[in-house]
Amino acid sequence: MSQKPVNKSRRQMMKLMVGSLAAVPVVNLVGMRTAQAGMPHVDEATDPTAQALQYKHDAAQANRTDKGGVKAADQFCHNCQFYQGDTDGGWGPCQLFPGKLVSKDGWCASWTLKQG
Ligand code: SF4
Repeated sequence: MSQKPVNKSRRQMMKLMVGSLAAVPVVNLVGMRTAQAGMPHVDEATDPTAQALQYKHDAAQANRTDKGGVKAADQFCHNCQFYQGDTDGGWGPCQLFPGKLVSKDGWCASWTLKQG
């Protein structure tokens, strides 16, 4: 029996394993984004956290003040360090509202400028 078929098979196995390992993070990311897209939007009128933090879907309707050297008018969820990115047409997860989405154009009293 020759060694060639075994080596070829090993090579194919190694390629498959490397390819599979590389695909895992991509699959997880896609799955996570899909799950986040199905999360409900924060209800600014009834959500206790939203009320406590004065969250508004439209930052222009919020009682913003200059903070950390950033003018009030320039503060939005999309440039806040707690916003985790747009996953649902202008809505995305916020670390302070687990399981819900906030508007990228929203604002709350915990707004903190995203670094970087
Ligand atoms: Fe928006 Fe930041 Fe408040 Fe979350 S913490 S609701 S991202 S301003």
